[in-house]
Amino acid sequence: MYNPKSLKACEFIDHQEILDTLAYADAHKDDLALVDRILAKARLRKGLDHREASVLLACEDEEKIQEMYELARQIKQDFYGNRIVMFAPLYLSNYCINGCVYCPYHGQNKHIARKKLTQEEVAREVIALQDMGHKRLAIEAGEHPTMNPIEYILECINTIYSIKHKNGAIRRVNVNIAATTVENYRKLKEAGIGTYILFQETYHKESYEKLHPTGPKHDYAYHTEAMDRAMEAGIDDVGLGVLFGLELYRYEFAGLLMHAEHLEAVHGVGPHTISVPRLKRADDIDPTQFDNGISDEIFAKLCALIRICVPYTGMIISTRESQAVREKVLPLGVSQISGASRTSVGGYTEDIRPTDTEQFDVSDQRTLDEVVRWLMELGYIPSFCTACYREGRTGDRFMTLLKNGQIQNCCHPNALMTLKEYLMDYASEETKQIGEELIKAELANIPKDRVREICADHLEKIGQGIRDFRF
Ligand code: SAM
Repeated sequence: MYNPKSLKACEFIDHQEILDTLAYADAHKDDLALVDRILAKARLRKGLDHREASVLLACEDEEKIQEMYELARQIKQDFYGNRIVMFAPLYLSNYCINGCVYCPYHGQNKHIARKKLTQEEVAREVIALQDMGHKRLAIEAGEHPTMNPIEYILECINTIYSIKHKNGAIRRVNVNIAATTVENYRKLKEAGIGTYILFQETYHKESYEKLHPTGPKHDYAYHTEAMDRAMEAGIDDVGLGVLFGLELYRYEFAGLLMHAEHLEAVHGVGPHTISVPRLKRADDIDPTQFDNGISDEIFAKLCALIRICVPYTGMIISTRESQAVREKVLPLGVSQISGASRTSVGGYTEDIRPTDTEQFDVSDQRTLDEVVRWLMELGYIPSFCTACYREGRTGDRFMTLLKNGQIQNCCHPNALMTLKEYLMDYASEETKQIGEELIKAELANIPKDRVREICADHLEKIGQGIRDFRF
């Protein structure tokens, strides 16, 4: 029985409720009066539920789709401005005992090189990432109780935060590791992590079990209830995602929104971020062997609808997507992107991109400097900000800031100051020039006089070599 407040996966992601939702969406997709009413509700910027959202996803009317895109653009602009937060993944270990059939790290893959970073290697990777200008990482690891136990992950987090190389520092470590216990989530919280990210892969239980035939990840309920355990352990910011390509996208979309509704209903705060990875080629993985690949058009529509349906949730696009696709979806609501990513274990310290332990092919292979310049040329402010979490503005405190529209007095100056740090310490001359102009113009867009003055003063001090100001 569907119950968003239940703590049981099969009740808050009720299969029959999803089937009923999809049937409802099919029956009403051409009812343009209903579509208009849903769009009018969406314009209130308080989000939509999974049924309303599914009607919009099913609607094929070109004019209405353009209205959805336009609304997504407006919400993105009003809530997130033109800032794009930058991060990079850091692969710690590809040892894994799971059997995920879409992932090259699956335990049955006997020919892929297995690698686990030592703490010295973690330090070297972190220095390489700091030397590019990164301040925010997402650590990634396979699931292996003896090779990558929680103690190893905690040790790595400790090492990452401890490295201070030149003006560099990693100020926020997000964690993408397999579902674990409340006790282990507490340890991650104590280690000072930012967001705990766990992709559902698919919300379809039967497919999930087939796609994860062996290993602890086979347990659908344990995986799906992970965010509740993380939140019970005090982790306020959790990141959801599905791996598009595994199951029908309309099923996944309804499930994803039901998961967000569940977190809001039980914990009073929805997901901090939603990621939208698409299945990619990798070592022994051929994405064409999976039947549910989605076109770039559907991908863009999904991004726009996520923006409309959960306006307070950040959206992340990785380097799985090409420059062209990223360019298309950025204005539709993306708030975070990775740059210069290497998806192999130890990849950042190699001159040439290694592929032996790569988790998936990277489509956007540009350097961070190129990505930063490209964003600015498109009118965005690349932000290396990590202030909210360091100031304790997580979970509902962050959401309140967003809902009160105070972001412009907070995230905007923080974005400008962290961009200035990047320009001073890491940028090429050309990027620096574009960035200085952008900062000058964007300073004027800080609404509060006092905040603008303080920001101008901090920017000057950053120019003189002082670092790490924040609102
Ligand atoms: N091992 C952890 C777990 O089980 O959740 C998470 C880390 S894994 C390195 C990060 C994510 O990469 C997975 O959750 C999956 O969605 C994604 N992934 C795996 N194989 C992929 C592929 N071939 N193409 C694109 N993304 C993939």
